[in-house]
Order: sequence, then structure tokens, then C-alpha cells
Amino acid sequence: VKERGKNNYQLFTSEMQQHFYRKMMIEKQLRTALDNEEFELFYQPIMNVKTNEIIGMESLIRWNNEILGQVTPDEFIPIAEETGMIIPIGQWVLDTAIEQNVRWQKEVYKPFKISINVSVRQLLEPTFLESVKNSIENNSIDATYVVLEITESIAMYAESMIEKLCALKKLGINLSMDDFGTGYSSLSYLNKYPLDSLKIDKSFVIGMNRDDENKALVKTIIAIAKQLDLKVIAEGVEGEDEYHFLSEIGCDYAQGYFISRPLSVNDFKEKWLTAGD
Ligand code: C2E
Ligand code: CA
Ligand code: CA
Ligand code: CA
Repeated sequence: VKERGKNNYQLFTSEMQQHFYRKMMIEKQLRTALDNEEFELFYQPIMNVKTNEIIGMESLIRWNNEILGQVTPDEFIPIAEETGMIIPIGQWVLDTAIEQNVRWQKEVYKPFKISINVSVRQLLEPTFLESVKNSIENNSIDATYVVLEITESIAMYAESMIEKLCALKKLGINLSMDDFGTGYSSLSYLNKYPLDSLKIDKSFVIGMNRDDENKALVKTIIAIAKQLDLKVIAEGVEGEDEYHFLSEIGCDYAQGYFISRPLSVNDFKEKWLTAGD
């Protein structure tokens, strides 16, 4: 018994050490990643479920590091938030995504909205409003094509945050509540924030056709959104059944593997923006 206890202890500490070491490595490599041009944006189309037309795309960051290989955003974004690296990275994402959107709009003569993930840490930065304004002006994009996806957090409840969001909204951009349904459960902020849309979290949408409770939740979220005059996007639409069901119950837009995985610039262009479509 003693011996097993000892082994368990060793296993535990070495796992903790590995975890700590990886986090340290990510932190260290993140510091030079921008300068080394290790980030890339992938794009996933967002489809109008009534017309089956692409109305826009979400930019999703990818990181390929020489030592660590491919690191997922779910792993490195929280670390970038902790260290503050999310500020320059977020700025790069904003500029790159807007620039790409403008290029595509010119190439295909079609308007597309570009959805950009913004972390709360960025919103809290005093210069954020100014940097969004600059990015819009520098790229001469019509602000109505820009969608910022924000998530709920405790900080979102501060009065100053509401003012901030209102100032952003005044630039003419759109605000979308990401991961809707997973956050701090209070619905009271919904009419305080100047939101344009809700994005139903993929945890409710994936496999919803085999899950009556999730189906009911999705229906309810859509009903709430309609009441508040907000558009609804469902993410994580993996199957045809889900797609059609969402269309039937009045969801506006869908995003997910059923339509397309997130794609590189070239693949996105080839698949979704080639002439004749
Ligand atoms: P998110 O904003 O909720 O993005 C949706 C995630 O779901 C993406 O993961 C996307 O690839 C994935 N996804 C899309 N369709 C499906 C589907 O049908 N099924 C399943 N299972 N998954 C699907 P990804 O790209 O790994 O990004 C993870 C998270 O990292 C994002 O979640 C977002 O919170 C964060 N993130 C990504 N890019 C950025 C960025 O530029 N800035 C910030 N601050 N966060 C980002
Ligand atoms: Ca998002
Ligand atoms: Ca989400
Ligand atoms: Ca998320």
C-alpha cells in the first residue's frame, strides 16, 4: 500500500511538472510569436439558413510554433490573457481580419461581415476603442461589416463596461454575445448591452437532434432573442438534421462543420469565393 501511494504521488507531481513546464514554454514562445509571424487566421463561413447564402465569416486564430508545433487557441488564448500578450495579438487579429475582409469584398464585389473574437482583457484596455476606430479608418471598411464577438464574464457587469460597449457601438460596428448560455446566467444584461446578435454555444447545438433538453434550450434562446430584436447564430452545426431544424425554428444564421470547417485564406477563397457562385 505504501509503495502504491508513493508511486501515485510521483505520478501526480510529474504530471503537474509537465503541465507547469508546458505553460511556461507557451508563455515564453508567445512573446516572440508575433515578430516571428507564427500566427495565421483561419476563416469559417456563416450561413443564412433561409437563403443558404454566406453572409460572413468568423476569424479564428491558429498558432504554429517551431518548438511546440500547433497549439490550439483554447490552450494559448487563456495564457495570452493572463500575461497580457493578448493585447498585441488581439490588435494583430483585428487588423489582419479587417484587411482580409476588405480584400475579399473587392475581389468578389460582395459584402461580407467579418466576425472577430475579442477577449474581455482587450475590452478593459483603455486604448481599445481607439484601436478599433483606427483599424476601421486605416482599412476604409464600412463599420457595419465588422462584428465583434464578446463573451460574458464578471467584468461585463460593470457600469463602465456598458459605457464602453455603447461607445464601440457608436462607431457603427455590430456586437455579438458569443458562447451564449454558458456564462453567468443572468439575463438582465441583455437589454443593457447594445447587442445585435446572440451566438448559441455549440455545446447546446452539437447533437441537439438527439437531445430534447438541448432542443428546448435552443428554441428558448431563439424566442428570447426574437423578443429582444436580436439576430441568432447557432455555432457547432455538424449535421444536416440540425441545420434544417434550426431553419424551421427561426434561427437566422448557422456556422459549423456541416457547412465548412475553418479554412486558410487560400482554401476559403477557393471554396467559397470563386466566380460563378
Ligand atoms: P469560439 O469563438 O466559440 O469559436 C468556435 C470554435 O468552435 C472554434 O474553435 C471552431 O473551430 C469550432 N467549431 C466550429 N464549428 C464547429 C463544429 O461544427 N463542431 C465543433 N465541435 N466545433 C466547431 P477554435 O478555432 O479552436 O477556437 C477556440 C476558441 O478560441 C474560440 O471559441 C475563441 O474563444 C478562441 N479564439 C479563437 N480565435 C481567437 C482570436 O482571434 N481572439 C480571441 N480572443 N480568441 C480567439
Ligand atoms: Ca467566437
Ligand atoms: Ca462558442
Ligand atoms: Ca469561446
